[in-house]
Amino acid sequence: MQNSHIPSRFDALRQATAPFMRFFSESAWSKLPDPQPSDICDFAVGNPHDMPLEGFVETLQHWIRPQNKGWFAYKLNEPLPRQVVAESLRRSHRMSFEPEDVFLTNGSFAGLAVALTSVVEPGEEVIFNSPPWFFYEALILHAGGKPVRVKVDPRTFDLDLEAIERQIHPDTRAIIVNTPNNPTGRIYPPDTLRGLADLLERANRGRKRPVYIIADEAYRQIIYDGRDYPSPAQYYPNTLVSYTYGKTLLTPGQRIGYVALPPGMPHREQLREALFLSQMMVGFAFPNALLQHALPDLENLSIDIPRLQRKRDRMVSALQEIGYSVRSPEGTFYLLPRSPGEDDRAFADLLAGYKIYVLPGEVVEMPGTFRISLTANEDMIERSLTGFAKAFERAHEEASLVKG
Ligand code: PMP
Repeated sequence: MQNSHIPSRFDALRQATAPFMRFFSESAWSKLPDPQPSDICDFAVGNPHDMPLEGFVETLQHWIRPQNKGWFAYKLNEPLPRQVVAESLRRSHRMSFEPEDVFLTNGSFAGLAVALTSVVEPGEEVIFNSPPWFFYEALILHAGGKPVRVKVDPRTFDLDLEAIERQIHPDTRAIIVNTPNNPTGRIYPPDTLRGLADLLERANRGRKRPVYIIADEAYRQIIYDGRDYPSPAQYYPNTLVSYTYGKTLLTPGQRIGYVALPPGMPHREQLREALFLSQMMVGFAFPNALLQHALPDLENLSIDIPRLQRKRDRMVSALQEIGYSVRSPEGTFYLLPRSPGEDDRAFADLLAGYKIYVLPGEVVEMPGTFRISLTANEDMIERSLTGFAKAFERAHEEASLVKG
């Protein structure tokens, strides 16, 4: 639909966000009252369904008390939170990150916008892997880039390196790599990241500017079964690391995160300048003063990952017992079961009839599936199982009626 009263670039943004916007404004989930009724089971998005984790509110209460006149002055990339982030990255990535290479943002949303606008020239191509997080395409467009979609391997959910290599063109400037992946739960193994680095190094030969990896590490701390976390930054120096505290703290409405450059990043000085200017011009993308003061303490808090793993195990085995086809994710708080029947939106509506709310697969470019967020609490999980079983039966009955 053309709308002549706003700039034409919004046509592309509207198209790129259409499935999400439809879910957000038209689904049964979007019509739920706020606060939600207590008898529903909400698995639709990664929102909290418990009170905030212990220590979170106390931390904010402590740091909101001003210790000097400049407490609530403009805050840019403040030295103390920068230093704390650099130390944290040194431990997690075993690389010597510098505080001056940390750029504080209000979450990954801003971090990705800042990273993209810092490296992409208008018209340059940015590859993203599908299924993606729902806003990559629109964020690339908004940064003036041209989105190029590459499907992951449908059997393993691993990156399809050959397909990526085929899509590397002279105008390719970046590739977004999200690991652990929302929505597949896949952590890309070291061999894949090494292979990606090799093919990008080959592509960089003879180029003035490299192809960057923008590593979306939003779920880096949400990893199961004692797995290791391989970061793209460990394999490829031209990597911008994006992180949000919104997942680890499960407080996505209190917005804080960062973009960081690893120590081997070539032309660091120039990129630092670009990132800082982007932070300003993207609309003062810095976290607010309170969250910057609190970051050193927030860095030590986390939701209970073993508890999340127990919810994963309970949900995966209960759904499999009913007959759903679903894999156990390696990380993130999402499950991606197959919907019985290809019409995932119809199945999400069927589940809503049992007061169960999920995200239809079409929103994450995975038709024929639906996404479950394990941020739902144990009570919701247990209450949902009868409904999941009934909906599964109903869908099969309807399918056999159609066939018969
Ligand atoms: N990247 C991924 C893969 C995500 O799932 C999300 C949040 N759903 C974000 C980035 C954005 O995180 P935030 O809202 O904390 O900025």
